[in-house]
Amino acid sequence: SAGREGYIKQTKTVCTYCGVGCSFEVWTKDRHILKIEPTHGPANGVSTCVKGKFGWDYVNSGKRLTSPLIREGNTYREASWDEALSLIARKMTEIKARDGADALAFIASSKTSNEECFLMQKLARAVVGTNNVDNCSRYCQSPATVGLFRTVGYGGDTGSIRDLELAGLVIGIGTNTAESHPVLATRVKRAHKLNGQRLIVADLREHEMASRADLFIRPKPGTDFVWLNAVAKYILDNGLESRDFLARWVNGLDEFRETLAPYNLDYAEQVSGISQEQLKQIAHEIVQADGTCIMWAMGVTQQCGGSETSTAISNLLLVTGNYMRPGAGSYPLRGHSNVQGASDMGAVPTFVAGYQNVQDEDVQRRHLNEWGTPLPRNKGLDNHEMVDAIHEGTLKFMYLMGEEMAIVDSNANYVEEAFNKLEFFVVQDVLFTHTAGFADVVLPASPSLEKDGTFTNTERRIQRLYQALEPLDGSKPDWQIIQEIANRLGAGWNYAHPSEVMDEVARLTPLFAGVSYERLEGFRSLQWPVHADGTDTPLLFLDGFPFPDGKARLYPAQWIAPLESATEEFDLHLNNGRMLEHFHEGIMTFESPGIKSKVPNGFIEVSPELAEERGIKTGSTVRLVSRHGAVKMPVLVTARVQGRQLYMPMNVPNAVDAVNRLTGSHTDQTTHTPAYKDVAVRMEVLSLD
Ligand code: SF4
Repeated sequence: SAGREGYIKQTKTVCTYCGVGCSFEVWTKDRHILKIEPTHGPANGVSTCVKGKFGWDYVNSGKRLTSPLIREGNTYREASWDEALSLIARKMTEIKARDGADALAFIASSKTSNEECFLMQKLARAVVGTNNVDNCSRYCQSPATVGLFRTVGYGGDTGSIRDLELAGLVIGIGTNTAESHPVLATRVKRAHKLNGQRLIVADLREHEMASRADLFIRPKPGTDFVWLNAVAKYILDNGLESRDFLARWVNGLDEFRETLAPYNLDYAEQVSGISQEQLKQIAHEIVQADGTCIMWAMGVTQQCGGSETSTAISNLLLVTGNYMRPGAGSYPLRGHSNVQGASDMGAVPTFVAGYQNVQDEDVQRRHLNEWGTPLPRNKGLDNHEMVDAIHEGTLKFMYLMGEEMAIVDSNANYVEEAFNKLEFFVVQDVLFTHTAGFADVVLPASPSLEKDGTFTNTERRIQRLYQALEPLDGSKPDWQIIQEIANRLGAGWNYAHPSEVMDEVARLTPLFAGVSYERLEGFRSLQWPVHADGTDTPLLFLDGFPFPDGKARLYPAQWIAPLESATEEFDLHLNNGRMLEHFHEGIMTFESPGIKSKVPNGFIEVSPELAEERGIKTGSTVRLVSRHGAVKMPVLVTARVQGRQLYMPMNVPNAVDAVNRLTGSHTDQTTHTPAYKDVAVRMEVLSLD
């Protein structure tokens, strides 16, 4: 409705925080945000969590960037848009002319819209001529996407969030769902409490979902692959598999069966610590359930073998016939509001939008027709490789949009050193982040409430966000900034509105062929694939899998053991994760005093048995030392963790960078997702009180 001065305006938007994708109306009067009113969001109904309801103070924070900044020595001076953009274009042109297009790199953001992510990869490919483009799904869910591509052909949740309520059994592996995906968790909690749904949780730490579970198992760190394969082997050895489904819809059973040979119950018990009785129980629960959904998140993916374990999850679902029907399938839970969309839109080195391979001749031809320029064919760098390439001196320029990379990438000291080595570094964000402090130019962007666009949530649902507020004076929507940079490089883009970008996505991308803003009007939404006639796909795989013969593939994955096992010197395992109250490295939620006061400081969770052994208690201060760095932290003694395992929340005030001062640079081998959850430390007691 209209936003005349002094009048209350209601605008439909999508939450800027997690991948559940709650949508609601935001009530504003001038620049005041009066309230958030969830009415009938397709993902959330009438629910939100504390962040969606109260986490909006950052939009009017006095810390908002309101002018481009140009570095002068160790400080910054305000500059006009014209001066800042001209400087960026001049540097890009110089570096490309001297060192080639692959000396430049671009990072899109899962906090920005689909259209903005699409334009960022178009800038990289069509204007500059490099595939060096990535986004922060590299830090979280890329391994899940690989596991699903290998086995079922699409890297997205099998069904809708609502379908989770239909499952007879939900298994959560390495997901602290109640805190990281709160509104989605309420659906599982409700079905578990009211509908007799069974719940199994596998995790290191006894969080809320673990406490509610019918069975809670605590595998040793990094061993999920082993117990999952043992369950699959037990099912096959005992003839409990879904034979008709396998015969009709799945390839590769014989080879898969062979790769399972080592994973007998005895071996799995030794490696994972899960008893043989529990492994059998899990197998029987799955085969007896009327539909099993497996949800997983970063406890699985942020490991050296994250892609392999994600593959093992999908293999187990195939063996038991848990695809192609409601209330069954894979649910990798996407972290940020548009982490699904950032990859969908091609902000990754190997694919353009819709996961089309840049090397494919048809894809090349279609883009040449649309853009008038061929797609680059050189192998692009992902985020992790970009940092190495800066250290090696081959990557000179980076344009980073909406990403606190100096804090969220692993081995923060190494990343900061890289940023200091860049010849030219552009950071675009809403607030002056820690990463911005390394930039040569900082560009002030507008947050989601100040622009039109779309986000895609964890269930592949594309939803509209409408502009509720004018961009704060001095800032601009990311899509406009990217367009202005492209045009200073001679691109001649002329997008008047993000809807025109989405029209282009639809023309180039079979997965989004039928997407248009008309079809996304208001609270309407579409779940991809969206066909040319506009029909969408709430449930993937209703009539087969997107492989040439329509059959899924059991993929023979390999176990990759954790690299940082405890040693005499580093004798403790450090785990980390989110808290309900905070998000996005805290950049946004710390600006809400009410939320900040709920969790004002960082801490390290220590088990009662370890606390007793070391003579420490809640409030003691310790120094954690890893092979890569050290941090000081107050102790919270809690039975949520056990034995020699520690847990540290990663996005709380005064400790946002603590986790990645300790993590190393080792990664999932397929995707280069950092193995954040594979850290060995020692603990030195600094004070007992
Ligand atoms: Fe919904 Fe996630 Fe936003 Fe909470 S943070 S309101 S669960 S989208």
